[in-house]
Amino acid sequence: MGAAEIGIGISGSVAAAAWAVRGRASGVFGPNVWHGPRSGPGIALTFDDGPSAGTPKLLRVLEEFGVKATFFQCGANVQALPEIAREVAAGGHEMGNHTFSHPMLAMRSPGFVAEEFRRGREAILGATGVEAKVVRVPYGVRWFGLRGAGAVHVMWDVIGVDWKLPARGVAERILKRARNGSILCLHDGRELNRGADISNTVEAVRWVLPALLERGHTFHTVTELLWTPPT
Ligand SMILES: [Zn+2]
Repeated sequence: MGAAEIGIGISGSVAAAAWAVRGRASGVFGPNVWHGPRSGPGIALTFDDGPSAGTPKLLRVLEEFGVKATFFQCGANVQALPEIAREVAAGGHEMGNHTFSHPMLAMRSPGFVAEEFRRGREAILGATGVEAKVVRVPYGVRWFGLRGAGAVHVMWDVIGVDWKLPARGVAERILKRARNGSILCLHDGRELNRGADISNTVEAVRWVLPALLERGHTFHTVTELLWTPPT
């Protein structure tokens, strides 16, 4: 699998990227990954901004279809709803770090950025016992200091705009754009509003999963899709 094929956005080989992911002491700026291999049917479903009160309903839908996803959680939300964070981890989903308090990182100091990811990682580890090895920046805005996150930075090639669109609009966007290797970005929370209504997201997922499975796609965590993709 070539670097271009998995969409690594900075110079460097896959071996270097893997080293950056796995090497705890690696000093490289984390690579940005936008999608998985286009040669196979694998897709990664990802959710940001959780956990929220609505997350368990989403977990039921994923379970119904036997789909494992990746959840980029905010540390503040994890600390407020640790049982729901644990439920996500116990469901076999991958845990990702979406900072502690969901700030816009642009123009912040590298120290601030690193501290946000450190606190996010600590919160997830404290609540679930899992070390998040993948991270995602709030609002898709990368900035200096990301190196402190010590993990691969996961972007996306399909975003559902589920913070704004009704379920049908979200589902249509995804079904129109999803293809081999896609990383789909949805939200099981709304920034730090832990009581937000995410029923449009849950409904959209209920529609798109059977449709994408019907097309022959398979669902994987981000780590599986990128490093042990289906053949
Ligand atoms: Zn977010």
